[in-house]
Amino acid sequence: MDVALGALAFWPALALGSFVNVIAARVPLRRSVVHPRSACMSCGTELAWYDNVPVASYAILGGRCRSCGVHIGLIYPAVELATGLLVAGCFVRFGLSGQAAVAAFFCVVLVAVSAVDLEHRIIPNRIVLPAASIVLVAQTALRPSPVWALAALGAALFLLVAALAYPAGMGMGDVKLALLMGAALGRTVSVAMMAGMLAAVVPSLYLLARHGGAARKMGIPFGPFLALGSVVALFAGGPLLHAYWHVFMH
Ligand SMILES: [Zn+2]
Repeated sequence: MDVALGALAFWPALALGSFVNVIAARVPLRRSVVHPRSACMSCGTELAWYDNVPVASYAILGGRCRSCGVHIGLIYPAVELATGLLVAGCFVRFGLSGQAAVAAFFCVVLVAVSAVDLEHRIIPNRIVLPAASIVLVAQTALRPSPVWALAALGAALFLLVAALAYPAGMGMGDVKLALLMGAALGRTVSVAMMAGMLAAVVPSLYLLARHGGAARKMGIPFGPFLALGSVVALFAGGPLLHAYWHVFMH
C-alpha cells in the first residue's frame, strides 16, 4: 500500500477528470477534444480558468453557469472525482509500476465510457476500440501470456451471446467494452461480469416495481454497471475469484 503515492497522483488525476468530461461531451458529437476551449453548453461563454477548476468551481458556483445561470449536471464533478479517486487508488494498490499505469488508464476509459453511456446511451467505438488495443498490447508486454487476449475474446463472446438473446438489454457497445475489460483484467474479468450484472439487477427491479410491464421496454444503460464490476474486479478480483473457487469447488 502506497498511500503517499496515491495522494500525489490524486491532484493531476482530478485535472485529468476535467479532460475526461471534455472527451465525454465531444467524442459522441465527433468534435475535437483539444479545440476550442471549454464553454458553457447553453450560452457558449468560454470558461475562465477559475471557473474550470475540478470540483471546486462547481461547488463555488453552486452548479450553475456564471454567465447564464443554467444548471450544470452533477455528472461533471462526479466524473472528476471518480477519475481522481480511481487513478489514486490504482497507485495505492499497485505501487509505482507498469501495472498501475495500465490500471489507471483502464479506469479513466471506464469513467469516460460510463459518462457517455449515461448521457447518450452509446459506447463509442472511437474510445473503446483503441483503448482495448492499447491495454492488450501493454498487458501482454508487461506479463507475457495468452490470457489477456483469451479473456478479451471470451468476455466479448459472452456478452455477444447475451446481446443476441436479449437485444433490449445489451448492445454491441457493451460487447466491445467487454473486449477492453478482458484485456485489462485477464481471468478476473469473470468477477467483473458477475459484479456488473448483480449491480444492474438493483435498478432493474426498481423500474419493474415502479412501472410494471412497461419497464421491460425502458432498459438501462449497461455500460456503467460493467464499469463498476470492472473496478471491483480490478481491486479485489483475485481474492474474490479465490473465495469463489474455495466455496464452490471444495
Ligand atoms: Zn451559460
